Amino acid sequence: MFTVNKTECQGCGVCMEHCLRGAIDVIDGTAHIDHDLCNDCGTCMEVCPCDAITRAAPVVAPPREIVLPRPAQPVQTGRLAAAGATLVAVGAQALPHVLDLLNAYLARRVAVRQPQGLPISGGAGIHRRRRMRQGRRNRRM
Ligand code: SF4
Ligand code: SF4
Repeated sequence: MFTVNKTECQGCGVCMEHCLRGAIDVIDGTAHIDHDLCNDCGTCMEVCPCDAITRAAPVVAPPREIVLPRPAQPVQTGRLAAAGATLVAVGAQALPHVLDLLNAYLARRVAVRQPQGLPISGGAGIHRRRRMRQGRRNRRM
């Protein structure tokens, strides 16, 4: 950003003639720079015979306040851990009973499927061979 030192400026208009942006007007014997049109090329400062134009330090905006996000609420792990421990304890007590029930159920199924002590597996072929052997025995008698 360039500024005009009003006490040094003689109002000669040299800067205005050289400004390609048309950003300078001489009003009442003093140069004025329209900073909306100025592109900071620096030509006016170079051509001024009075050294009345200087480069001003850029205006630095104050740092904005940085708002950090709030930390997440801590998870209430105490309740979750207690609930998990309760479930484990209940499961450990119930497991033997569940296994007993399962054994009893399987024993009943075995008893239903082999009323004469026949093996469960083997398919219809085994029964057919047994019937054939029994038939041969009956014929021999
Ligand atoms: S710096 Fe360049 S654009 Fe700005 S007033 Fe001077 S001559 Fe014009
Ligand atoms: S050239 Fe320098 S003295 Fe002449 S009008 Fe521009 S600023 Fe003022």
